[in-house]
Amino acid sequence: MTTAYVYDFTEGSREQAGLLGGKGANLAEMTRLGLPVPPGFTVGTNACRAFLRTGSVPEGLDGEIAAHLKRLEQLTGRRLGQADDPLLVSVRSGARFSMPGMMDTILDVGLNDASVIGLAKSTGRERFAWDSYRRLVQMYGATVLGIDAARFEAVLTRRRRQVGAGDDLGLDARQLAETVREFQAIIHAATGREFPQDPREQLRRAVVAVFESWNGERAAVYRRREHIAADLGTAVNIQVMVFGNLGPDSGSGVAFTRDPGTGRPGVYGDYLADAQGEDVVSGVRDALALDELEHLDPDSYARLRAHLRLLEAHYRDLCDVEFTIERGRLWVLQTRVGKRTPEAAFRIACALVDEGMITWPEALSRVNAEQLDHLTFPRFDADPDTPILAHGVPASPGAAVGAVVFDVAEAVRRAEAGEHVVLVRHETSPDDLPGMIAAEAVLTGRGGKTSHAAVVARGMGKVCVCGAAELDIDPEHHRFTTADGIVIEEGTVVSVDGTAGTVHLGALPLVASPVTRYLETGTRTPGIVDAVARCLEQADEIRRMDVLANADTPEDAARARRYGARGIGLCRTEHMFLGARRRLVEDMILARTDAERDATLAALLPLQREDFTRILAAMDGLPVTIRLIDPPLHEFLPDHTESAVRIARAQALGQPPNPRDLRLHEAGELLHEENPMLGLRGVRLALAVPGLIATQVRAVAEAVVARVRAGGDPRAEIMIPLVATEAELRIVRPEVERVLAEVRARTGIDVDCPIGTMIELPRAALTAGEIARSADFFSFGTNDLTQTTWGLSRDDAEASFLAAYLEQGILSVSPFETIDRDGVGRLVRIGVDQGRATTPNLRIGVCGEHAGDPDSIHFFHDCGVDYVSCSPYRLPGARLEAARAAIAARHNRAEPAPTEPQPD
Ligand code: PEP
Ligand code: MG
Repeated sequence: MTTAYVYDFTEGSREQAGLLGGKGANLAEMTRLGLPVPPGFTVGTNACRAFLRTGSVPEGLDGEIAAHLKRLEQLTGRRLGQADDPLLVSVRSGARFSMPGMMDTILDVGLNDASVIGLAKSTGRERFAWDSYRRLVQMYGATVLGIDAARFEAVLTRRRRQVGAGDDLGLDARQLAETVREFQAIIHAATGREFPQDPREQLRRAVVAVFESWNGERAAVYRRREHIAADLGTAVNIQVMVFGNLGPDSGSGVAFTRDPGTGRPGVYGDYLADAQGEDVVSGVRDALALDELEHLDPDSYARLRAHLRLLEAHYRDLCDVEFTIERGRLWVLQTRVGKRTPEAAFRIACALVDEGMITWPEALSRVNAEQLDHLTFPRFDADPDTPILAHGVPASPGAAVGAVVFDVAEAVRRAEAGEHVVLVRHETSPDDLPGMIAAEAVLTGRGGKTSHAAVVARGMGKVCVCGAAELDIDPEHHRFTTADGIVIEEGTVVSVDGTAGTVHLGALPLVASPVTRYLETGTRTPGIVDAVARCLEQADEIRRMDVLANADTPEDAARARRYGARGIGLCRTEHMFLGARRRLVEDMILARTDAERDATLAALLPLQREDFTRILAAMDGLPVTIRLIDPPLHEFLPDHTESAVRIARAQALGQPPNPRDLRLHEAGELLHEENPMLGLRGVRLALAVPGLIATQVRAVAEAVVARVRAGGDPRAEIMIPLVATEAELRIVRPEVERVLAEVRARTGIDVDCPIGTMIELPRAALTAGEIARSADFFSFGTNDLTQTTWGLSRDDAEASFLAAYLEQGILSVSPFETIDRDGVGRLVRIGVDQGRATTPNLRIGVCGEHAGDPDSIHFFHDCGVDYVSCSPYRLPGARLEAARAAIAARHNRAEPAPTEPQPD
């Protein structure tokens, strides 16, 4: 069969996730592997994209679907909606990247007023048939026709109440048949049309509904959060229905090949007898642990385990599957490489290496800096005496404190006002997504580790405790009551421990995570700490770029070293002019003669020498790049308005103003600039204020001497900021060299150190070839480079319009967080290429904030940068991402980019 849009499960493979979506590609792969997958076919994402582009079903799609349906009918010997023994199909969304529950699914397509009777007869189960029909009409009404789902729920609730049933299982065939008629009446009233009896119309409209759900609100919110492109579209999987709700020898479940919470090997999951798959995931009934299946149906259990082993070996990773047992026959409905917590990610990566399944580069490509960051978050200080409000399933680990809220709107409102909140629900559904994003933690009364709340929270790295069944949650009155009768009202602060599965009253104290303890002290313990340590060690072996730190104090330098820094790439020196030294700096600014200025600089010198000596000691043997003073001098003066007020007050009291106040005020006036960011700062200061940089250079050189004399191995480097033209360096560099030579001559100790420059102005990047003639190294100051390329002041933009730009999609991410590859990034490339054209082995680093950002690190690797320099806390993540960048680059070189990316 020649197809443009539709592919049978027997035709595809897992490499085709771009076309078939993750779910479709994996269904095809499992079919190829010979697993018991109900037959079906996939409508490709290309059809969805065409639909979204034109607003109509692409030409030929109906025919292709009909042809594939015919094949299904031949295979099963039943026709869609046939009156006596109908073929029924499910219609499921499935994009390239997993978007759990964010798009639509319609089950039991093919049922109508006649075939429901046929289904009752062929299965011998009247109640089941009517329940299936009830589900179809309800899903069709809400999803395809867009009728408020609450209208259907209200009918069900009323009917349950009438017969005194706790859940839908309490409704018999007759009551369900009446429910179906009520649902059909709702549809007629809302649309003026009958629920379609033609199964093909049901199928066609269900497919369109799935296409449309790509642009639904919750899918869009999820994509924005997960950085999934908005134009990929979804595939649609049409598959023969199998039923887990045909009695006690049937059921549905979810299984993982390893624990997605901790990474421990074994088989984990949930199982619900006599239930459809969505009952397990929605958490409406409490599931059994999967082990129980071994007693209920040992045969299916053994087969399931064998399938899980096969899948894990095949995908070489943690897999999860959805399965259904229909009257003792096991079917696998879905598999994917499973979402996992950060802890599980690191532990599984190491375990798979140890098991010989993957290599270290593969292991590192499966963990990332964001996950590592999560592992450094503090934990609660476990105090056995703290009263526990509730116990539940530890579904997503971590510690969170916040005010309890009971609905999405309130969660969003409070979070926007800066409050930390904990969202409390009976169970969550995809509609709760904005509230889950806004909350620090999610707490539910129902559902297990595979419930919607658990899966989504884990994917987002949010703390989650679910299935806290002892809580009486009352969203209507915005409160819950604990088993001990304590009433917790909305706004009460609680602590949620997602690792232990407990909820506590008030804000518990926090302690460092074991991973942070390891980074701080080197204390290595088995489990997660060992896994992180091994991954970081491997990352250090694999990465090409060096990772240095931005550190301005001896304490920061020492921490940076513990966190794995290979030196300091940026030591800002402005704080060395603040605090107790401020008065000296003021004197220097106020100096009227060279002699006065020299005196104050001479007083500053020993203090700065001491600073540099201690920093060089902390980084002994490693480079310390000291940047000469950068900010405009008026930043060191007292607040201009304050001095004006003091002067005015004195004058008002008829007293003479303090002469120093007057002079400082005058100096402030003189130094005032309209645009200080573009004013007298950086190298311009060196040229304008005689003696200023000489003092700093002398302090550095004398610190080197002190360290050499103490037996150390100082590696100071001097860096000149905000250079725009080589001409500036041609004047300043000899001045630096002169001071170094003078100290060398005086002490007999070689204080030679490289003299480099920051590239942080567009002109510097564009003329980097010339600048390289006067610089021993470059360091890209991407903070200023971003500001000056965009013509944006970071502080002003962040305080006012940046949020609106992000909201309106003008920017997808702040250019101050992630390097703007097309603009600022292009300048970085030009700067690197031109610099190296002059000096082929020119050492080049990046020391702006971007140097700690994962995406930017990958970009800098690709540009050929030698090192990134970031704040100490970002070092471990930067080490990891630098290695991942090297691995990705190797991979891309080895084989051309795959046309279809791997499934998630
Ligand atoms: C930069 O501009 O990127 C930089 C590192 O310097 P600063 O942030 O101190 O201006
Ligand atoms: Mg700068």
